[in-house]
Amino acid sequence: MFNKVLIANRGEIALRIQRACRELGVATVAIHSEADADARYVRLADQAICIGPAAPGRSYLNRSAILLAAHASGAQAVHPGYGFLSENAEFAEQVGEAGLTFIGPDPAAIRTMGDKVAAKRAMRAAGVPCVPGPDSALPDDPAEIARIAHDIGYPVIVKAAGGGGGRGMRVVHDPEKLLDAVTVTREEARRAFGKPELYIEKFLEHPRHVEIQVLCDAHGNALWLGSRDCSLQRRHQKVIEEAPAPGIDAELIRQVGERCADACRQIGYRGAGTFEFLFENGQFFFIEMNTRLQVEHPVTEATTGIDIVREQIRVAQGHALDLHQDAIRTSGHALECRINAEDPFSFVPCPGRVTVWEQPGGNGVRVDSHMSSGAVVPPYYDSLIAKVITFGATRDEAFARMRVALSEMRVEGVSTNLPLHRAMLDDAAFRAGAVDIHHLERWLAKGKEHDADR
Ligand code: ADP
Repeated sequence: MFNKVLIANRGEIALRIQRACRELGVATVAIHSEADADARYVRLADQAICIGPAAPGRSYLNRSAILLAAHASGAQAVHPGYGFLSENAEFAEQVGEAGLTFIGPDPAAIRTMGDKVAAKRAMRAAGVPCVPGPDSALPDDPAEIARIAHDIGYPVIVKAAGGGGGRGMRVVHDPEKLLDAVTVTREEARRAFGKPELYIEKFLEHPRHVEIQVLCDAHGNALWLGSRDCSLQRRHQKVIEEAPAPGIDAELIRQVGERCADACRQIGYRGAGTFEFLFENGQFFFIEMNTRLQVEHPVTEATTGIDIVREQIRVAQGHALDLHQDAIRTSGHALECRINAEDPFSFVPCPGRVTVWEQPGGNGVRVDSHMSSGAVVPPYYDSLIAKVITFGATRDEAFARMRVALSEMRVEGVSTNLPLHRAMLDDAAFRAGAVDIHHLERWLAKGKEHDADR
């Protein structure tokens, strides 16, 4: 049992976690870099410790500085948020060795899921449907590699077992290009991830990105909390998310959700997690599991009424979940727009001082943001400055509320992608639901063509 948590993150999620702690009566320690010294959540925390200069490697990724801050502050637990050290098994281990609680799963679970081949093997064993292809690393023998790809059927995708952030992947349409793709990807994997292991799977051409949120305790309880659709992406980065995934049979989602919960029980998973799937032709195909809180968790909170961060903390304190699968009802519909400080056309990050900040409100509107007038968006980190979440009884109502919310939002001093969000809400295909993961890129490319014609 702990009553003081160090939040090893920054930005909107640091504030989100802080709020959950405060609601539970748990004291908070904010750590921050020199660049974030004036941030609002730093001011609001019970205690704040500067752990280093702006560069993430010397602050938010500096494990020994964070552990030292935990020790100095008397924090008994560490919440890693998302990004930074949240999926670093070694850090989770060090936190444990220092006698502190890591608010997340065991290092072993993080390690297994961080290796995509091991993750796929574990999921297949647990009955979770996976993308066609072997759940073992590629051999060296060229003839054997060619046979595996042939058996799967082209197009295939060559992926690094240790890959992440949309890197270390290559699509192959033509058997003659397979071996070159393997060589290049292997070299890239060795350099970028320090691990040359590769695998091949079927390349799905028009999938949707649909994911299942899970929540587990240390007493063998595992729940699934409905689905989310995160197909609207640019360069593998999610832009708008929603819950539930529209147009998918509830029974099909239930079956997959049950499989995910079973898998969690089998691997002894603890805490919050997300199973990511590609969904094509009415079928789910597992691609990876994220062993942490996700940026888009609020849409699930809106549709289930469950505070995921609060539950994460309570589970880490050793409490059993007092929720039961039968009692979990998802109702209504939620949308989330990720507002970034970036140029709306070139997508180049746009750090600077926010001179005017007016955020929306009203029925069914939630804004998770660490910004205010006068706040600074530093150039060193992710450009996410706010998440606007709307909830409605129906998808249409959630859309209508989002339209109003975004019309109320005013940000000056830095450019944002608000124009892109406003345009997307009026896009007929997105409005209809069930667009694939290439929709936004196609839409942007079309816009460029129009511009060129003018
Ligand atoms: P990362 O950990 O780098 O995010 P993922 O395995 O989650 O890697 O894949 C990232 C993205 O790459 C997916 O969201 C999808 O757009 C694409 N992708 C991955 N595997 C496949 C596949 N088998 N078929 C089609 N697209 C894929």
